[in-house]
Amino acid sequence: MSPRRFGFSTTAIHGIPRRRPDWTPVAPALVQSSTFTNPVGSEEEVLYGRYGNTPNQVSLAHKYALLEGADDAIFVSSGMGATALAHLAVLRPGDHLISSSWIYGGTRRLLDQELTRFGMDVTYVRPDQPRLWRRSVRKATRAVFVETPTNPTMRLVDLAPISQVATEFGLALLVDATFASPINFRPLEHGADVVITSATKYLNGHSDVVAGAVAGAASLVEEVSRLMRLWGQAIDPHTAWLVDRGLRTLALRMERHNANGLAVAQWAEEQPGITRVHYPGLPSHPEHAHALEVLDGFGGMVGLEIKGGIKAAERLLKRLKLITHAPSLAGVESLVSEPRLTSHAGMTPEARAAIGIPDGFIRLSCGVEDVEDIIGDLGQGLGK
Ligand SMILES: *Cc1c(COP(=O)(O)O)cnc(C)c1O
Repeated sequence: MSPRRFGFSTTAIHGIPRRRPDWTPVAPALVQSSTFTNPVGSEEEVLYGRYGNTPNQVSLAHKYALLEGADDAIFVSSGMGATALAHLAVLRPGDHLISSSWIYGGTRRLLDQELTRFGMDVTYVRPDQPRLWRRSVRKATRAVFVETPTNPTMRLVDLAPISQVATEFGLALLVDATFASPINFRPLEHGADVVITSATKYLNGHSDVVAGAVAGAASLVEEVSRLMRLWGQAIDPHTAWLVDRGLRTLALRMERHNANGLAVAQWAEEQPGITRVHYPGLPSHPEHAHALEVLDGFGGMVGLEIKGGIKAAERLLKRLKLITHAPSLAGVESLVSEPRLTSHAGMTPEARAAIGIPDGFIRLSCGVEDVEDIIGDLGQGLGK
């Protein structure tokens, strides 16, 4: 891991601060060019957008690597693209993957429908039964995939026992930590080898870009980069520029997301119209003690079980004036969605209830608005 010489806010703004020559722009220049001149006869690698080696792509990747404490990082065109390439980088046909069963629906479909098509095999493990990690290791096992905090119940997966198994058997540990952002949780500090992030969420934070990133050892990032050049998921300079602009306020935004998430969760626990609140900052959360240990902030995502099920939840959603009903999350504006119709639509109500998502469950992404206004909107939505 490369040493982080500056704080998270400074790093998110400057990367590694450098003295500037006179008369240079303070804001990063957007270099919107797909190709670059190169010396005649040169055998050096050319600069080309699809290679991810043009100025905006490179500076963004360096900055993100510093935040994760990684050797290197690379941005691709979505969180799913990052997940796909990270897995393809560590698995070969015939290899076996152990995955947490608490994962994003899109990732589940990628593993079930696509990795299997490449002759890879997947075993799912419930993270609340940590002894199963070791028991699931086979001769062909090459990697373990985990998402933490989880969507939408905000459960935390303890990486310590998994990383122990991974080290013992020489497995790569891949962690999707989208819900935390590197401000709240850095998986590489807890034994992970690879961090996967949907930059669509907190990194960009303004609901106007779709992108993803992979961070880790230089050799791993090089392999992801090799795949990206062939499979074609590079981001364009403008996307890189926008994510970099979002990143500059990441630490600041996370402070407010964390504060708003906690305040809303604490308020919600007092409401008779809400039967259960899922938030790692609450003592009622099953991994609260672990959250206090490993997280630098609890985030802006809150799961709410509305009393009265689907009807009551829909009544609330229709009454909301500030909080917007839309999928996705982690932008400056508060968003709310029903996992039964979005991320977990493919499951039966019983199967959802079994993993802690009963009908009437709504997922709230607390934005960075004034918290009284978020709470006020929820309150009037509940008919108070
Ligand atoms: C949104 C999300 C993804 C997918 O990211 P996209 O940018 O939409 O492709 C993957 N994992 C988690 C945890 C997410 O929230």
